[in-house]
Amino acid sequence: DDDGAGDDENEIVAGTAPGFEPFEMVIDGELVGFDIDLLEAVVDETEYELADWQEIEFDGLIPSLENENIDVIAAAMTITEDRQETIAFSDPYYSADQTVLVQEGGDVQPDELEDLEGHNVGAQSGTTGEGIVEDELIAEGLIDDGDYDSYDNYVLAVEELERGTLDAIVIDEPVAESFAADRDVEIAFTFETGEEYGFGVRQEDDDLQQALSEGIEAVQESSEYDEITQEWFDE
Ligand code: GLN
Repeated sequence: DDDGAGDDENEIVAGTAPGFEPFEMVIDGELVGFDIDLLEAVVDETEYELADWQEIEFDGLIPSLENENIDVIAAAMTITEDRQETIAFSDPYYSADQTVLVQEGGDVQPDELEDLEGHNVGAQSGTTGEGIVEDELIAEGLIDDGDYDSYDNYVLAVEELERGTLDAIVIDEPVAESFAADRDVEIAFTFETGEEYGFGVRQEDDDLQQALSEGIEAVQESSEYDEITQEWFDE
């Protein structure tokens, strides 16, 4: 059984990290979102069968893939060179930039990263947002190590922002927009990172990688991609 978690050779198990709306979240006990619908539509185009979804913290997804607890990551995961040292990705299926999110009407209203100097900043563990805090804020001496709070999930960071116990978080723009729409937080500014999301697979699973890329193309060429986008984004 080369495909790890599935019993049948063509059965695959997907992993995701809910709390990243509108890509993946749990509503009324049910796992839903853009990534859920998209991966299901994409796998439908292939010879594979999606047997199960596992909910895992974001920074546990790559280890779970390597351990063969899951076979594919669908978690708004940015394709990065760092990650490509351990896993492989399908072709990209969504583009996003980063934003800084603050308390709505709060005292901290930065216009650029430099304005976060000396502030308390949060991000979700293992994300590209955390990478920006490390590389652009801590390494540049704008904030100290101790000013950075790493969270298992962005929802916990957003709750701290609402309470005013955290000054700002660095997070993907489409997710920041979703949080800003229904919580007491707002986007301070957006900065271009040109990130692209892909489905993650083990490096040796070339067939699955290729099937997913072809499936993405088929879904994008049909009306399905637009339908899924319309369902989860106000577009
Ligand atoms: N796109 C970001 C990353 O890959 C955040 C993903 C997430 O938090 N689910 O790190």
